[in-house]
Amino acid sequence: MVKLTQGRILQAPERFFINGDWVEPASDRRLDVISPVSEARLFSYPEGCVTDMDRAVAAARSAFDVGPWPQMPAAHRAAALRRVASLISERLEEIAWAWTTQVGAPISLTRKLVPQNATLFSYYADLIERTPFTDHRRRDDGGEVRVLREPVGVCAAISPWNAPMVLLSYKIAAGLAAGCTMVAKPSPETPLEAYIMAECIEAAGLPRGVFNLVPGGREAGDHLVRHRDIDKVAFTGSTAVGKHIMRVCSERLARVSLELGGKSAAVMLPDADFAKALPSLMVYCMPIAGQVCFSLTRLLVPQTRKQEFLDIFVPAVRQIKLGDPADPATQMGPLAMARQRDRVEAYIAAGRAGGAQLVCGGARPKGRETGYFIEPTVFANVTPEMVIAQEEIFGPVVSVIGYSDEDDALRKANATDYGLNGAVYSRDTDRAFAFARRMRTGGLTINGLIVDPKHPFGGYRQSGMGREGGPEGLDSYLEVKTVHIAG
Ligand code: NAD
Repeated sequence: MVKLTQGRILQAPERFFINGDWVEPASDRRLDVISPVSEARLFSYPEGCVTDMDRAVAAARSAFDVGPWPQMPAAHRAAALRRVASLISERLEEIAWAWTTQVGAPISLTRKLVPQNATLFSYYADLIERTPFTDHRRRDDGGEVRVLREPVGVCAAISPWNAPMVLLSYKIAAGLAAGCTMVAKPSPETPLEAYIMAECIEAAGLPRGVFNLVPGGREAGDHLVRHRDIDKVAFTGSTAVGKHIMRVCSERLARVSLELGGKSAAVMLPDADFAKALPSLMVYCMPIAGQVCFSLTRLLVPQTRKQEFLDIFVPAVRQIKLGDPADPATQMGPLAMARQRDRVEAYIAAGRAGGAQLVCGGARPKGRETGYFIEPTVFANVTPEMVIAQEEIFGPVVSVIGYSDEDDALRKANATDYGLNGAVYSRDTDRAFAFARRMRTGGLTINGLIVDPKHPFGGYRQSGMGREGGPEGLDSYLEVKTVHIAG
C-alpha cells in the first residue's frame, strides 16, 4: 500500500500493464520512491527490465499491425478516449495527492492543474472527429490523388518526474487519438500517476496492447528507445538525454519529438507596470519550487528601473509561504529529491562565485532540518554570460538582468541555447507583440502567462523539437501518404 499524504491509500504498484493484462515483472529488481518532505521511503515497486520492455513493445506492435485500433473510425476511437477522460475526472483528487506526495508540489497547485489530464483526452477525442484524415484532390490530368494521414505506428512515451501525469497525458492522448499504440515509461521517481492512467485505460475498454506501461530507469528507457519496433519516441526530460535519444533514433530514422529544458526570460519593457506584472511573475518564476521547464527564471529589467523592480519583487519573494505541500496554504514545497537540492545549491554557489549579488534566499530555511527545502532565491546584477544565466537550474532561483535599451533586452533575452518560453510586459500590447515576435522561443505570453494544453507547446533550439498540445500535437503522431489513382 502507498500512504499518500493525509492518509489516502493507493495500491502500491506490483505489476506491469502489458497487452491488456497486469503481468508479473521479469526480474526482482525494485525502485524506491522517497518523500521529499520526510526523506523516508514512501514505497518500493518493481523496476522494468529489458525483458519487460520487449514484451510491452511486442504487444504494442501486434496491436498496431493486426489489432483494430489504427483502422477504427475516428468516432470510435474518440468515444473510447472520452471514456478515459471521464474515468480520469473521477480520480482527480487522487492524482493531485499522488503528485504532491511524490514530488512535493503544493496541493493548492496540483488540485488546480490535474483537470488538464482529462481535458487532453477529451480535446483529442473532439479533434479527431473534425480532422479530415483523407484529402481528395483532382490531378491536372483529371485523375485523383488521395492524401492520407495515418498513424506513425508504435510509440514510446518517456516522461520526467516534475509533472508526472500531464506530461504523459499529452503524449498518450494525442498518440492514441492518431491511432498509434503506446508503451509508456514514466520516471522512476513518480510511477503512481501512470498506473492510474493505465487503470482508466483498462476500465475504458481499449483493445489489448494499445497502451502498455512498464516503469523503469535509464536502462529500460534506453532499451525502449533503441528498439527497432518503436517507430517514434516522444520524450520529455533534460536536454542532455534528449540529445542522446535523438542520436540513437537517427540510426534508424525513428521519429522523435523532444520537450526539453528551458531558461526562459520575462522581459519588462521600459514602460512595464511592475505592480501589475507581479502576480503572474510570482506564479510563473518558480512554480513547484522552480522545477518546471517553462519557469521564467531570467527577469530582464531596464537598468534605470532596476531598483524600483527589486523593491517590488524581492519583498514578494520573501513572503512566499514555504512549507508542507499538503497544507493548502503552502505556496512552495521542498525540492523533489536530494540530488535536486545538491544541484540547486551548487548553482547558488556558482552564482555567488561568479559575482552575482544575492539579494534574498540562497540557503536551507531555518527550522526545517528534514525535507529538501531551499529558500526562494533572487540574484541581481547577473550578466548573460554567467553560469546561472545560461544553465537550467531547475530550482527556486531567478536572476535579475539589467538592460540599456530594447535591442539590448532582445540580445540578452535570446542569449542562451534554450528557447522554450518567455513573457513580455508592457502597457502597450502592440509594442509587446512586436518584441515577442523577435524572441526566439516556442511560446510567449504578453502581460501574464497562460499554459493551455489545447494550444501547441514546445521549444526552439535546444529546448526541443516538435510540439505537444493543439492540432500540432496530433500531427506529430501522423505520417502522410499520397495515393495516385490513374484516371
Ligand atoms: P531526465 O532527462 O533525467 O529523465 C527524463 C526521463 O528519461 C525519465 O523517465 C528517465 O528515466 C528517462 N531516461 C533517462 N535516461 C534515458 C536514456 N538514456 N534513454 C531513455 N530514457 C532515459 O529528466 P528529469 O530529471 O526526469 O526531468 C527534468 C528535466 O525535464 C528538466 O531539464 C526539464 O526542463 C525537463 N522538462 C521539460 C519539459 C518540456 O515540456 N519542455 C517539461 C518538464 C520537464
